[in-house]
Amino acid sequence: MSNDTVFTFGGNAPHSNARQKDKTVVGGKGANLAEMASIGLPVPPGFTIATEECLKYLDQGADFSDKLRADVAEALAHVERTVGKGFGDAADPLLVSVRSGAAVSMPGMMDTVLNLGLNDETVEGLAATSGDERFAWDSYRRFIQMYSDVVLGVDHGLFEEALEIAKEDNDYYADTEMSADDWKSLVAEYKRIVTEEHDAPFPQDPNEQLWGAIRAVFDSWDSERAKIYRRLNDIPHDMGTAVNVQAMVFGNMGETSATGVAFTRDPSTGERAYYGEWLVNAQGEDVVAGIRTPQYLTKAAREAANAKPLSMEEAMPEAYGELARVFDLLERHYRDMQDIEFTVQQGKLWMLQTRSGKRTAKAALKMAVEMVGEGLIDEKTAILRVDPMALDQLLHPTLDPDAPRDVLTSGLPASPGAASGKIVLDADTAEVWANRGEKVILVRVETSPEDIHGMHAAVGILTARGGMTSHAAVVARGMGRPCVSGASQVSIAREGRVLTIGNRELKEGDTITIDGSNGQVMAGEVATIEPELAGDFGVLMEWADKYRRMRVRTNAETEADCRMARQFGAEGIGLCRTEHMFFDADRISLVRQMILAENEAGRRAALDRLLPEQRGDFVKIFEVMVGLPCTIRLLDPPLHEFLPHEDADFVELANATGRDVDQLKRRAGELHEFNPMLGHRGCRLGITYPEIYEMQARAIFEAACEVAKASGEAPVPEIMIPLVATRRELEILKGVVDKAAQEVFAASGTTIEYLVGTMIELPRAALMAGEIAEVGEFFSFGTNDLTQTTLGVSRDDAGRFLTAYVEKGIFARDPFVSLDVDGVGQLVEIAAERGRATRQGIKLGICGEHGGDPASIAFCEKTGLDYVSASPYRVPIARLAAAQASLR
Ligand code: PEP
Ligand code: MG
Repeated sequence: MSNDTVFTFGGNAPHSNARQKDKTVVGGKGANLAEMASIGLPVPPGFTIATEECLKYLDQGADFSDKLRADVAEALAHVERTVGKGFGDAADPLLVSVRSGAAVSMPGMMDTVLNLGLNDETVEGLAATSGDERFAWDSYRRFIQMYSDVVLGVDHGLFEEALEIAKEDNDYYADTEMSADDWKSLVAEYKRIVTEEHDAPFPQDPNEQLWGAIRAVFDSWDSERAKIYRRLNDIPHDMGTAVNVQAMVFGNMGETSATGVAFTRDPSTGERAYYGEWLVNAQGEDVVAGIRTPQYLTKAAREAANAKPLSMEEAMPEAYGELARVFDLLERHYRDMQDIEFTVQQGKLWMLQTRSGKRTAKAALKMAVEMVGEGLIDEKTAILRVDPMALDQLLHPTLDPDAPRDVLTSGLPASPGAASGKIVLDADTAEVWANRGEKVILVRVETSPEDIHGMHAAVGILTARGGMTSHAAVVARGMGRPCVSGASQVSIAREGRVLTIGNRELKEGDTITIDGSNGQVMAGEVATIEPELAGDFGVLMEWADKYRRMRVRTNAETEADCRMARQFGAEGIGLCRTEHMFFDADRISLVRQMILAENEAGRRAALDRLLPEQRGDFVKIFEVMVGLPCTIRLLDPPLHEFLPHEDADFVELANATGRDVDQLKRRAGELHEFNPMLGHRGCRLGITYPEIYEMQARAIFEAACEVAKASGEAPVPEIMIPLVATRRELEILKGVVDKAAQEVFAASGTTIEYLVGTMIELPRAALMAGEIAEVGEFFSFGTNDLTQTTLGVSRDDAGRFLTAYVEKGIFARDPFVSLDVDGVGQLVEIAAERGRATRQGIKLGICGEHGGDPASIAFCEKTGLDYVSASPYRVPIARLAAAQASLR
């Protein structure tokens, strides 16, 4: 039988309905069970109830429809016919398992009930037909415990306690010592517990049991742990789960029975070797639950581990041989590594599940590359197989998975990698301690541009506030520093130089470890392992480069970052944020003098001294990027970000300028803004103080000419004006840049090619892109600001409420992490189209954080952008994602 929402599998089920192959309809487990049955593998017969019944149930909360009840009854009859037993038949009962199975696998997140169909009568039938009374009563007590826990909500600890007491009373050590009569008495005790806790006796009617279990599986979709798992793994909340009801097979029918889980290849190393665990005389849950220590699957693994208990290969050679045959068949069928659950019932192998196995990044790479070699898949499939984000794991040092962890709290995984170091509470201290050779972790409520030197000095950054695009997160990713942001349990008392995390108190100087890949914060030092950029990585990247259309550049502003980005394959700079060069300890004073000057003459005096410094920076960058395009953005942030706050800084500045402190403070006060993100920043600075942009342009051209002369090959500067809203702004500022170029070229006797373009990061700029392209020679989408201004959501404050928005499904993902394609994306499309209409072939790129996000990169491919730009560590991710986007 196959109809709309209930699908049978196994036995003579047709497996012909296309919907039964669709994971969104029947879930991954259901689809694969049917698939395995259809290729002739031994699968216990059963049926799947579609995910849409779950959604209907959760939405309406009402009773199940008559149609569904009838369909289930019919499907159950198929199972009864196939195994020749009756559901609820006191003489020869059919028992079933009831398991969840969503479209995307969520291991361990939802509920399972085994041995369903047992009651006071059928247990006797099971004892008679199996000839094993002990087994029958053991199964019954397992069922009562599991069902009561999952369906009736009775604390399973009560049952475990009762079992412990029974064992103690009998002086037993292991469960295996319990006799049939012992289990019988325990069942009576279990039933008493249920009646007391549940205010009703344990349900004896198998049909009532079945519908109770179905209901519980549906409910488990909305459990807290399932919701959290979905949030962490970007799984949509509106898919629902299917339910799989399947005839039980028993791995606990004595010494010729067993149960196990296995992978067709090693999921942590990728090695081509069967990998798994099994237990003799046990039921599936025993392996997963860790009640008994499982044994090795293969002889080789057992010997490698120096373990005594026999492997399955040795203890059950026949069933093992059959299993190995199934492994190969499944790998060839699915053309991927499979994660399998199986049971051996009295010597006969049964397959309970198969799915593409989860794997580490390292294993994913190895398998993808090797399977191409084996002829199992082609290069394109290999490229599509590896999750670009998983590469992150490979590029940073990671925590040793075997090392113990004392986890203090968790925040957002803002910048991947792990680091251990001493806590420091301000940037200056970070720098001082780092200079004397200490590894430090900078811990701040949140960071600001003033902390840059401390962030650079630190091996890792931890903040109590701020989201994934907070200052700390963006800068840390750019620098390749591990960062955990928004760890709200962290509270800092700067006076005492202490911080508390939950109920633990730590002092400045205490060592902690942060894991920027999962957000964990740990006490003490946790051992790390170095990244390994060995062969497979290089091979896959080469294939990716072969199949991608878009270029990949980097967001970088230091020589070191540029070098690293080139090692990772960057093909130029997509965004050099020049303000980051201003924060250097010896420059900040000059920058402050410039900002606090009372007039243009005062500003120019300071700028004249900054010019050689900037030029020096650009020379270093151009030397690394010789021959490649370099997009350099002129000053963007509001000036007050550079201002001193501490009295000592004002005094120092007063000494340097000969002005008095009060006067400087008054001028600083004048620069205060109520809404700096929408204030005096970006090109507005260039409009009001053109001498700043003039100096920067001059520094760029002088550096470019110098490098061109020295190396014979000129860099290609693309000078970018930020936060443009109108054609006229760009026209005025292009004039400033062009004039500086002419002057430098005349003076140096060298001419180099350059472009002047703009960021598209305001909605008006996107809409007026046709007009702006009359002046601008390229566009780079600043999707951080474009998201902020389109949504009217502050990038620095979004962390406080966006999680709720994602949970409630208002946004599928944080729009500062993954581009809001429907909204912000439209503006990008409009700007691209209008820009191209004015200036055919205008160069288009993206330099917001989204340039390193695979889903956003797919959108960029669709929109036909020429390149994406990402922070250095994201460059390989972007290369792979760009290849996937063009292949898809
Ligand atoms: C942007 O707004 O997307 C951008 C790249 O600029 P910034 O993050 O420096 O504002
Ligand atoms: Mg911006």
